[in-house]
Amino acid sequence: MIAPFTPDLLTRDFLTALLQQQAHQAQRWAGHGGHWQWLGEGALQWEPADLAHRHADLVLSCGIHGDETAPVEVCNHLIRDLAAGHLSCRARVLFLFGNPEALRQHRRYLDDDLNRMFDGRHQQHPGSREATRAAQLERWLSAFFMAAPAAAHAVPRLHYDLHTAIRGSRFGRFALYPYRADLQWNEQQMAWLQRCGVDAVLLNEKPAGTFSYFSSSRFGADAFTLELGKVRRFGENDLSRFSGMDQGLRTLLAAPADSTTTPLPRRFRVAGEIVRQSEAGFQLHIPDDVENFTAFPRGTVLATDGDYRYVVGHDEECIVFPNPKVKPGLRAGLLVVEIKP
Ligand SMILES: [Zn+2]
Repeated sequence: MIAPFTPDLLTRDFLTALLQQQAHQAQRWAGHGGHWQWLGEGALQWEPADLAHRHADLVLSCGIHGDETAPVEVCNHLIRDLAAGHLSCRARVLFLFGNPEALRQHRRYLDDDLNRMFDGRHQQHPGSREATRAAQLERWLSAFFMAAPAAAHAVPRLHYDLHTAIRGSRFGRFALYPYRADLQWNEQQMAWLQRCGVDAVLLNEKPAGTFSYFSSSRFGADAFTLELGKVRRFGENDLSRFSGMDQGLRTLLAAPADSTTTPLPRRFRVAGEIVRQSEAGFQLHIPDDVENFTAFPRGTVLATDGDYRYVVGHDEECIVFPNPKVKPGLRAGLLVVEIKP
């Protein structure tokens, strides 16, 4: 039998403990400048000692898709450095490692795409292992925001859901801003994203089953899905490519984001979507290796399926997340247009 992890070992390498399903002893223990709390598999909370003057309630989630390993390593290093006292953190933080069993198997998911299960949609998928996990992640995130201790001033709620994309991208890093009826672009957040090396932000036009939509719509959090690079296995990630985000997170943990005068990320909105109609007749008329945000001119036929056609209707539309392998009825690609300042 594997010896139980002590709190010290747990925070020194949270990921290994998670992958090896190590037992743990403590529920709550003291760290450098605050307290740790183990909430359950893949869920670890940090509370700074000076809660009254904390500058954010921040949820950092990673591994929602089990094959997207680099952000998991980034979060693991943050926990390690925070536990070792090498990183100061005045924010209250909830670390969520999204899909532990899929991470162990290096699979995107076991039964269903976890990032389509949130905002209660898991109730429509009884028996799916991702449905069970989505409900658990929602409970942890809800409790984190709802049970937040009082502070001396208003504390912003933030949620960054860290991903990597299946394909390359014209923009190396981009953010998805979930739909909100009352959405105002948060310029401070835009500036922070820019400093993290995020080149483009895409505003969603309707509710979705994503984790970031859940925290945005239910708790008013400034929430983003961040696509930071490409899918690779553990140990094969070039973490230097994630240094912008890593540095951005370290800065944010220590102090509130400030505004900036540097150019902000380019902004896009959804112009249309390609929906697969049938099993047999669906064809996506773009190269397999097309990059995210590749632009197509007006009139280009991007997909056909029987009588169905998707034709570019704006002067220029850019494709994001093309995937000819989705099931019928599901989205096989998103078309976006740039919002000019
Ligand atoms: Zn993902």
